[in-house]
Amino acid sequence: MTELSLLEQALVRLDEAARHISVDPDVIEKLKYARETTKARLMIRMDDGSRKSFVAWRCRYDDTRGPTKGGIRFHPDASVDEVETLAFWMTFKCAVMNLPYGGGKGAVQVDPRQLSKAELERLSRAYIQAFAGIIGPDRDIPAPDVYTNSMIMGWMADEYAQIVGQAVPAVITGKPIALGGSLGREDATARGGYYLVRHLAKNFGLMGTLRVAIQGFGNAGQHIARLLAGDGHKIVAVCDSSGGVYAPDGLNVEALLAAKAKGLSVTSTAGEAGHRAIGAEELVGVDCDLLVPAALEDMINERNADDIKARLILELANGPLTPEADARLARKGVAVLPDILANAGGVTVSYFEWVQNRQGFYWTLEEVHARLKTIMEREGEAIWGIAREKDITLRTAAYVHALKRLAEAIEAHGTQN
Ligand code: GLU
Repeated sequence: MTELSLLEQALVRLDEAARHISVDPDVIEKLKYARETTKARLMIRMDDGSRKSFVAWRCRYDDTRGPTKGGIRFHPDASVDEVETLAFWMTFKCAVMNLPYGGGKGAVQVDPRQLSKAELERLSRAYIQAFAGIIGPDRDIPAPDVYTNSMIMGWMADEYAQIVGQAVPAVITGKPIALGGSLGREDATARGGYYLVRHLAKNFGLMGTLRVAIQGFGNAGQHIARLLAGDGHKIVAVCDSSGGVYAPDGLNVEALLAAKAKGLSVTSTAGEAGHRAIGAEELVGVDCDLLVPAALEDMINERNADDIKARLILELANGPLTPEADARLARKGVAVLPDILANAGGVTVSYFEWVQNRQGFYWTLEEVHARLKTIMEREGEAIWGIAREKDITLRTAAYVHALKRLAEAIEAHGTQN
């Protein structure tokens, strides 16, 4: 079998959804390709005086439902295929949540952990210098993603303001609060997933204390651990890029968060009472009720899907399951809350931030939480209903839900262009 590109794999899900509703073939043809992807070379001065170049992209996949929206990833394995696929997922994610946005994504192929803070700032500014003509508050609105954060968004917003000669806070979301960021954006991805699990767990027969395994311990992984542990659930295993720890009676979440705050791996907590070191690849197969992939694409695939013991998967990462893994899990009866719904809390609070920036009127944390909860529950329930009605997986139901909205917008734009 020839290896499918990441985008081809993603399109399998679109084809699957298209089988369950009648959509004009024009709609599918439009959604199969990125509208535009721009590549640039970013040259920056390193602290030692040398110059170094990094390849970067910004993709605007589809803007039918509004300006394109999506994060910027800094990662050594970033590629044009990955950026376009992530932008495709953003298109569907924004449609699932009914946000007035299309989908976009950006990336720089770099290991930011090898850069000093000053080098990172120069790289972030260089990104905006390269793409200032593409982005804009009504055109394309970046945000954080893997290995980027509010500090980086702050530098980028500042660079954009310098280029256009005025502050335009709505051009980028996930900013520091001091520059117009929204309260509640920091943990929004995890919180959205948390509200969803809280609302739907009983539908999967999950009641009482859940045993949870979390793959990846960055922004999403850390916050979901904190939120679920706060409700008394047991975090039994976590891993990051250096390895994992396991404790059947529950890990010490405070110790895990403290290690991360110090820049250490979760493996540094192996000395805590009850903690045992495990390999990152073992995590997927640990005995638990809820598995939360919160790392990168394709981490759960045909090699490890059969090891899964969890009853429910909450995809906080983008694209963590391959289509082959999906098929195996469906056969095993493992339910999946799919990425385009499960991790959509991040972009939803980004939308709130953009709205607040444009109004110049800021919401309380309680307002942000309440609005996020309402939307997560509403769209989660709608997708649950479609899955039941059509007897399809939640992922296919989420694509059906989004595709309906996209098709309506594509048709409303007119058919002769
Ligand atoms: N990077 C996040 C995602 O994949 C957030 C995007 C945004 O806030 O625009 O959904």
